[in-house]
Amino acid sequence: MGIQFYNTYNRRKEEFKPIKEGYVGLYTCGPTVYDYAHIGNFRAYIFEDLLRRYLLYRGFEVTQVMNLTDIDDKTIKGCNTKGISLAEYTKVFKDAFFEDLDTLKIARATHYPEATTHIKEMVDLVKRLLDKGVAYRMGDSIYYRITEFPNYGKLSGMKLEDLKTGARIDAEEYEKETAADFALWKGWDEDDGDVYWETELGKGRPGWHIECSAMSMKYLGETFDIHCGGVDNMFPHHENEIAQSEAATGKRFVNYWLHNAHLMVEGKKMAKSFNNFYTLKDLIDQGLHPMAVRYVLIATHYRQQLNFTFDGVNAALASLQRLWDFYTNVEESSGGDSGGQIGSITHEAEEKFTSALDDDLNISPALAAVFDMVKAANRVMAEVGLSEDDKKILLKALDGFDSVLAFVKPPEEAKIIDEEVERLIQARVDARRNKNFEEADRIRDQLLTQGIILEDTKSGTKWKRKVE
Ligand code: AMP
Ligand code: ZN
Repeated sequence: MGIQFYNTYNRRKEEFKPIKEGYVGLYTCGPTVYDYAHIGNFRAYIFEDLLRRYLLYRGFEVTQVMNLTDIDDKTIKGCNTKGISLAEYTKVFKDAFFEDLDTLKIARATHYPEATTHIKEMVDLVKRLLDKGVAYRMGDSIYYRITEFPNYGKLSGMKLEDLKTGARIDAEEYEKETAADFALWKGWDEDDGDVYWETELGKGRPGWHIECSAMSMKYLGETFDIHCGGVDNMFPHHENEIAQSEAATGKRFVNYWLHNAHLMVEGKKMAKSFNNFYTLKDLIDQGLHPMAVRYVLIATHYRQQLNFTFDGVNAALASLQRLWDFYTNVEESSGGDSGGQIGSITHEAEEKFTSALDDDLNISPALAAVFDMVKAANRVMAEVGLSEDDKKILLKALDGFDSVLAFVKPPEEAKIIDEEVERLIQARVDARRNKNFEEADRIRDQLLTQGIILEDTKSGTKWKRKVE
């Protein structure tokens, strides 16, 4: 059996059949650049990174497109409140986004189209919808008439009779109960300030949903293979994308819709609006390792909710340390006598890894396959040492897994961990000097969950790694 994905559109796992053999067109909804992304957003981007990397591992060529939403209610409000241009305002968050991608080893997409540089494509699409009679003008704005699209609601599972016909909505994010005709083009009003485009549709700016339809079809064609996003994007955003695209082209828009579940904090979705979020920088400033954040965000199946905890990230670092120590030991080994014992171990691991990820990216058994391989190979190394050929076979398998997971090889900065421990020990000494014993204990506990044991001696604090 080949690769299976859970397709939200049909609510079942389906065999993945690309439109063109060996090639995948993948669209992933990107950040709205009105603020720094939080790690809930990165759960979505890391899931998409896993998907893309795995398709490459399985030999597909992939074109991945991720939009940057730089025109929407929030970016416009942000730049006008600050009294700066939209471009100036969004640049800070675009730059920060790319920096975070690199820190989390999220591979770059093929294209990152921005809404501001694709106005023409959006205007053309709205014109097609007007020509077809599914869009209509109301004042200076243009709306999509959802009752004209019989499949409206299919993706998110709403029934058309639940929709209030004739109601209109200008806000870009809204609740299910308020499903209504949505804005394709918003005529300029005073709140928009200097943010507008003079186009054939009038003076104004595109709605959020049309951005993704126009940009995905420009780079991937009118029908493409996979579209991803978090479950919160299913309605109204993706529902509206389908309605716009399919009404304009008369063709199926997307064959497979994949949605990731949310990253939660104490039972609630991590979101700006709940003020319960962490940015990647917040976590790094608190001493967490970015690869441990990546590990935590990947290690739970993408369709399961994941509760964020600091303990979880610290435990992840201990697992990573095991992988990194192993990789380094393999690299440094020489002159052993394993004589062909490794081939069957790596082969079994690769088979298990592939069959797990083929099954809708079932990550837990895939990770287990990697750790089982480490354990079995460690035994061989301890008993007889690695032959040169076996060393090559093992490194090749590890590099293959690393191409998908991106945390199997020790990062260049692995040494920094030691420096980080020293820094935290100093912070603990300072806390104790200031009689802040609570903070001192917190630091000790944090280090302990990372597998670091502290020992206070007369000549200062010493540390050692817990041996498992
Ligand atoms: P936004 O910038 O709000 O448009 O979101 C960018 C991506 O992050 C979308 O795919 C969202 O569905 C996703 N997302 C937002 N919050 C979370 C969360 N707490 N957990 C997982 N994904 C999220
Ligand atoms: Zn989108």
